[in-house]
Amino acid sequence: MTVRTRIAPSPTGDPHVGTAYIALFNYAFAKAHGGDFVLRIEDTDQVRSTAESEHAILEALRWTGLRWDEGPDVGGAKGPYRQSERAAMYRAHAAQLVESGHAFHCFCTPEDLAEMRQAQMAAGETPKYDGRCTQLTETEVRKRLTDGIDHVIRMRIPKSGDCVVHDRLRGEISIPWAQVDMQVLQKTDGLPTYHLANVVDDHLMEITHVIRGEEWIPSAPKHQLLYQYFGWDMPELCHLPLLRNPDQSKLSKRKNPTSILFYREQGFLPEALLNYLGRMGWSMPNDAERFTLKEMVESFDIDRVSLGGPIFDIEKLRWLNGQWLKSALSDEEYVTRLMAWGFSSEFFQRALPHLKTRIDVFSDASEWLSPLWTQMPEVAPDALTAVDLSEEQTQCALQFLIWRLEALSPWDRSGVEASIRFVCEGLEIKLKQLMPLVFLALSGRQQAISAFDLAILLGADRTRARLRQALEVSGGVSKKALKRLEKSYADACRAVDSTGEAH
Ligand code: GLU
Repeated sequence: MTVRTRIAPSPTGDPHVGTAYIALFNYAFAKAHGGDFVLRIEDTDQVRSTAESEHAILEALRWTGLRWDEGPDVGGAKGPYRQSERAAMYRAHAAQLVESGHAFHCFCTPEDLAEMRQAQMAAGETPKYDGRCTQLTETEVRKRLTDGIDHVIRMRIPKSGDCVVHDRLRGEISIPWAQVDMQVLQKTDGLPTYHLANVVDDHLMEITHVIRGEEWIPSAPKHQLLYQYFGWDMPELCHLPLLRNPDQSKLSKRKNPTSILFYREQGFLPEALLNYLGRMGWSMPNDAERFTLKEMVESFDIDRVSLGGPIFDIEKLRWLNGQWLKSALSDEEYVTRLMAWGFSSEFFQRALPHLKTRIDVFSDASEWLSPLWTQMPEVAPDALTAVDLSEEQTQCALQFLIWRLEALSPWDRSGVEASIRFVCEGLEIKLKQLMPLVFLALSGRQQAISAFDLAILLGADRTRARLRQALEVSGGVSKKALKRLEKSYADACRAVDSTGEAH
């Protein structure tokens, strides 16, 4: 048997370090067994999936140095590797399950489902589908289908007993069937849900080991049942622990930069990032701190993964990156990497319009551009208080802006400008009060190119990280104040969305 693993990202946002972490362990496992590593794009959510996100994910994973044997960009014998191009296969499989009586048509409207949910919650029950459409006669079902009534296909779930799934790291996990919903497999638009597409593809792509994040454990009973319904062997499951923030909470972009591209833009080495991710729940048998991907593969043993939530700590990553810079690169390689990071002609071409109008000699360049080369600008607390805003306004403005920018896509000048105007309107402050604060947060200086230009050149993640730093320097927002702020932020969003302004 050839070991085949896969990474199956959904292109619905920034390329997450968690994706690189799962990809790395899948890669290491496959290669340690002389097997294949596949990349599949799970874009069945047509509303949230975007081509830009897919592009960014592929670019970011390629930057890490991981290489896949099959994927949408490199092809392969089991393609296509983008789920949106496989719709007919899923439809045929859903139909097969209906035929065999393992799935059924459900004609409930969103209103029916909302009512069902409310009644169950009022009765203190966990809301789930009550199975009413399983009672329809075959004639009734046929009639509704001929009448073209909107419907989904749901899978049948045993009414009682427990489902026992085997996880390579955790042993047997037992989940009562009563907790498992009659999952929708095919949506009204005829497209599959994640569960159906994922199982069908893992089977057709001959995946032997499913190595993924522990957030998917609750889905495992449904998947196991689907394998049984189809009469297929199930790949071995292995759920890895989720990466955590230093405060133990789940790694999220609200607290930490989570985009892989952030680490590239901040000047980390991809080798150091992979090395650090390789230490998340795993270690080399000789406890070496610095190791290459090749060394990791040679020593990889997935059964040594420890289940305690690994902490993704930027300071530790920074230290490890320093180890790489100090001793792992030749001088020539060092210079090449440094230039490619922040001194490439592409970089200067982007910065040129802002430089051309401002400098008289090249030695002035760093005066204007230095915020782009620093990891984090230094923002002094008294510089923040010197801004024409009260302490509370400063904190609210920074928090509002961080939230608004989190939702901004694409990252362009007009979007950044609209976000800043949104904060002004929401907090009833003037643009000329807010801009010096944003400028200070992004540059930490008296003089630099404009805040808008900095935001564009820095990109979304570095910009947000700087705003977060300024918020911390200003004393941060207390938990209680945060609740209040969340509410007024939601109100401000609603007000803007209803008038269509500040977009
Ligand atoms: N598309 C899922 C994700 O975004 C894949 C989960 C799995 O590996 O089964 O993580």
